[in-house]
Amino acid sequence: MKSQTDIRELAHELKDTLITISPFIEKHTAIVCLDCKKVCCADKHGRFGNDDIAFLTALEVDIPHQPIDREETAACRYMTETGCSLQRWMRPYRCTLFFCTPLLKSLEQDDPKLYRAFDDYFQHLISLRTQLTGKNW
Ligand code: SF4
Ligand code: SF4
Repeated sequence: MKSQTDIRELAHELKDTLITISPFIEKHTAIVCLDCKKVCCADKHGRFGNDDIAFLTALEVDIPHQPIDREETAACRYMTETGCSLQRWMRPYRCTLFFCTPLLKSLEQDDPKLYRAFDDYFQHLISLRTQLTGKNW
């Protein structure tokens, strides 16, 4: 059983890791998402699960406002003309975990050292999230 201090420390480390990897992902979403014909950001993906809420609660941040009157298939409540309005660490975890094929290819074609460093951080991210939630996804 983890103490509140352990949970808080894990949550902060997870937040820091999300902040670290975000620019590399953003670099590639800026390349591939502009021309996307089937944007993946449906509202159902922007809804916080219990584990996302537990993570934000451990960080003592407010849960973003969640309107309840949107269709699951409508554009995500956090989508704006300039992209997602939430910083990556505040988004539902599934938003960072999802890579469509063009995005994955774009990441893999970056400088091999950069990609390897990103992959290492990403494995660390998954490990932290698993430790925090007890679930390995
Ligand atoms: S991540 Fe992939 S599916 Fe989602 S908007 Fe970008 S290109 Fe489209
Ligand atoms: S929270 Fe952001 S990244 Fe996630 S589905 Fe909504 S707009 Fe897309």
